[in-house]
Amino acid sequence: MEYVSTRGEAPSLGFEDVLLTGLARDGGLYVPGAWPKLEPDEIAALAGLPYAQAAVRVMRPFIGGDVPDGELAELADEAYSGFAHATVAPLVQIGANAWVLELFHGPTLAFKDFAMQVLARLMDRALKRRNERATIVTATSGDTGGAAVEAFRGRDAIDIFVLHPHGRVSDVQRRQMTTATESNVHNLAIEGTFDDCQALLKALFNDLPRRDRLSLAAVNSINWARIMAQTVYYMVSAAALGAPGRAVGFSVPTGNFGDVFAGYVAARMGLPVKRLVVATNVNDILARTFASGRYEPRGVVPTTSPSMDIQISSNFERLVFEATGRDSGRVRRKMAALADQGGFDLEAPELDQMRALFVARRVDEDEAAATIRRLQTGADYLADPHTAIGIAAAGHEHAPEDGPIVSFATAHPAKFPDAVGAACGVTPPVPARLAGQLAAEERYTVLGTDYDAVAAFIEARSRAVMEPQ
Ligand SMILES: *Cc1c(COP(=O)(O)O)cnc(C)c1O
Repeated sequence: MEYVSTRGEAPSLGFEDVLLTGLARDGGLYVPGAWPKLEPDEIAALAGLPYAQAAVRVMRPFIGGDVPDGELAELADEAYSGFAHATVAPLVQIGANAWVLELFHGPTLAFKDFAMQVLARLMDRALKRRNERATIVTATSGDTGGAAVEAFRGRDAIDIFVLHPHGRVSDVQRRQMTTATESNVHNLAIEGTFDDCQALLKALFNDLPRRDRLSLAAVNSINWARIMAQTVYYMVSAAALGAPGRAVGFSVPTGNFGDVFAGYVAARMGLPVKRLVVATNVNDILARTFASGRYEPRGVVPTTSPSMDIQISSNFERLVFEATGRDSGRVRRKMAALADQGGFDLEAPELDQMRALFVARRVDEDEAAATIRRLQTGADYLADPHTAIGIAAAGHEHAPEDGPIVSFATAHPAKFPDAVGAACGVTPPVPARLAGQLAAEERYTVLGTDYDAVAAFIEARSRAVMEPQ
């Protein structure tokens, strides 16, 4: 399988190089050169399979020969063995033709474990095979850091540095990162905002000599392997509900457009998808874009669904590439306009193409809270704020007559006990695995926003650093 950059000016790469590179050198994102297909009988056959086996069937076409079948099966088994539910991703019915897919039974209780657990194992394997090491640096405002630490801790070939804004993540989220005891995990509490953390990260990636010296790798959702791994649960849940015999809709709480783009991928692979509901909180750049055709970031407002408090939806570039008929020149012009003029416009045919599958809906704080309350009293279901936004959006955009709709539960309610308690008066019970983390000792270093100090800290500790010639 060959991968191409959305901006058309970086070399085509195979799966393993795309996995280790993350961002293309021309600033673009990698996508498969052609979409692989699953036949209708192959989709039907996913129903009832153990999750790890279904994952192998869905991911194998993207990986090609880069990982032998037996090793891939073993890797998937291991990746999902740490999930606390026998079916890994259970479907729960909450109404007529309305379902919730619980994606929070992984080790850090948010859906990011699904991809991170696979990504870490694929990367470790590729690096060992090449006899190389890599340095992962990531910035987090919430769930990514914990999922990454959990997946990469103790891996020989990789050191991981997580930047979080000091004092601005929740206690649960911070402890999930800082209680790891392995020596390859480094937590940096930056005296600044999440945007400051991201700016430091970007500066590192743009510092090319240092990027090469550290063998920097990216694990945020621009990494193709994360999208690939997330395609699996669309296929598996739809097959359980009767696909390909009937089309299924999905409602996806969205920030960086990674998770919902995986739904687009499932559709391109042959899954009959009725619609993809892009559910946003009041940070509604995507809802505005689908309504007006203009993509224009504004300031971020903090909400009770912090993992969706994003103003730049990085993965949207992949959909723009698709909607332009894979015209990388047009993508480059739009991205240049975003950088120089603060936004870009979609042309009518591009917008029509997107609207054929996607519909976007903004859900404000009051409606999110009311939805948590309604689900708790009406369906005896406790939803976290991110999940509630997806369920509320599904209620507006998909009628029971349209067939089944699956709303993703992207985080366990116990990760957001204050917001859930305030909305419905019920404090979510804390799962045992989380209780252990909450009690353990924390390790992190507080640093300012000075680039040189942060870079020096990382360089002094990364085992990937090569001696200067
Ligand atoms: C990351 C995250 C999201 C948003 O996912 P994207 O792939 O960034 O769109 C939604 N809910 C939760 C709980 C998350 O952690």
